[in-house]
Amino acid sequence: MPRERLYRVEAIVLKRTDHGEADRLLTLLTPDLGKLRAIAKGARKPSSRKSGHVELFAHTHLLVAKGKQLDVVTQADTLDAFLELRENLERVGYAYYLAELVDRFSEEGTEHRATFALLLRALAALNDATTEPDLLARFFELRLLQYVGYRPQLFNCIHCGKAIEPVENFFSAEAGGVIDPDCVQTRRAQIAGRARAVSPTAVSRTDDFVERGENARNDAQTISLDALKILRYLQTREWETVRGLRFAERGEAMSEVESLMLRYITHHLERNLKSVEFLRELKAGLYAAKK
Ligand SMILES: [Zn+2]
Repeated sequence: MPRERLYRVEAIVLKRTDHGEADRLLTLLTPDLGKLRAIAKGARKPSSRKSGHVELFAHTHLLVAKGKQLDVVTQADTLDAFLELRENLERVGYAYYLAELVDRFSEEGTEHRATFALLLRALAALNDATTEPDLLARFFELRLLQYVGYRPQLFNCIHCGKAIEPVENFFSAEAGGVIDPDCVQTRRAQIAGRARAVSPTAVSRTDDFVERGENARNDAQTISLDALKILRYLQTREWETVRGLRFAERGEAMSEVESLMLRYITHHLERNLKSVEFLRELKAGLYAAKK
């Protein structure tokens, strides 16, 4: 029998799913190998000593054996299980969200050092009762987008490159950032003109132009000055600075930022996130319970 090839890896557990009778399939994030999937054998047996060491969201050191199809965890040492956050369902919901974002935006076999460090810091922050989880989630989204190559442009118009003026502007997930009012006007005029220029006999083509024009126009939604300021702040400051801010008084702008980011993220992922629905239901439940 060939000897097992073993390797050591530092990892955060992004996802755990049942596998076979007693095993668990782990989706892990590692600094150097990016996303990694591995089997934790017998992890669902109550007697398993390993089970406690492969908790969801845990920061661990693993010894992994290279397998034919899937690699197998042979030893696990937890560095931090983030026990505090586990006692709060809302924070668990946020941890699910961060982990799902990372899972969707990261690839296997690609170095993800910055993302790893970001997730580790974010879980530690969620573990701290003084952290506002909403604020952390928004900060995390902007930083993660930057690391995976989807940084939204917030300072210059995505169309003409001119510096954005302090007025009400537009935000387009499809275009990748902020569009000034002039460019939105020009774009709308061009779309209308193009639709008129097409021969009236080519009905289907006209419809096509109009439809695509409508999509591009609908995608650009207004963004308030307050929301833009918050986004820029989150994009350019470190968490240590951001965390001290009280955005609570700006509840409306924060809700706007939340929905803009959700649109932006789901547009680029081309899919919805399961944890968003979970968080929404959870918050609705918590709100109802408080009343
Ligand atoms: Zn412009």
